[in-house]
Amino acid sequence: MIKPDGVQRGLVGEIISRFEKKGFTLIGLKLYTCSSELAKEHYKDLSSKPFFPKLVEYITSGPVVCLALKGPGVVASARKLIGATNPLQAEPGTIRGDLGIETGRNVVHGSDSPENGEREIALWFKEDEVCEWEPSMMPWLR
Ligand code: ADP
Ligand code: MG
Repeated sequence: MIKPDGVQRGLVGEIISRFEKKGFTLIGLKLYTCSSELAKEHYKDLSSKPFFPKLVEYITSGPVVCLALKGPGVVASARKLIGATNPLQAEPGTIRGDLGIETGRNVVHGSDSPENGEREIALWFKEDEVCEWEPSMMPWLR
């Protein structure tokens, strides 16, 4: 997910491009402003953290771009492309390492396990918003 700061700063194309160039397949994509109910459900594991109310405020502060990506090892690889939670500690070359300086405005979210990936896709997308296509279905691409 591209968080509201990433959308407001005009980084949508840059960020989507990194996942596309890596070779993952986009199977869902939308601009969406979420309710605080959805934000709380999405981040429910962090509900006891002191920064939780600010986090919900941040995620609901403007539209986000939801991406559903498919490919081998996509969850772990996307986390690597995204970089450490604190952008100041994220390696150069990662999205957060290149594009952010604040943990509380760290540009992107990535699911932390395949199970959470499935959970989050079901939370953020309606069933008919996910397109199950594969590049191998298009012989002119390979
Ligand atoms: P990640 O997004 O790297 O998986 P977490 O799951 O630990 O990191 O936290 C979720 C999000 O909560 C972070 O991306 C960040 O936006 C926010 N967050 C985490 N820790 C802090 C903190 N100490 N202060 C403010 N916001 C935080
Ligand atoms: Mg997390």
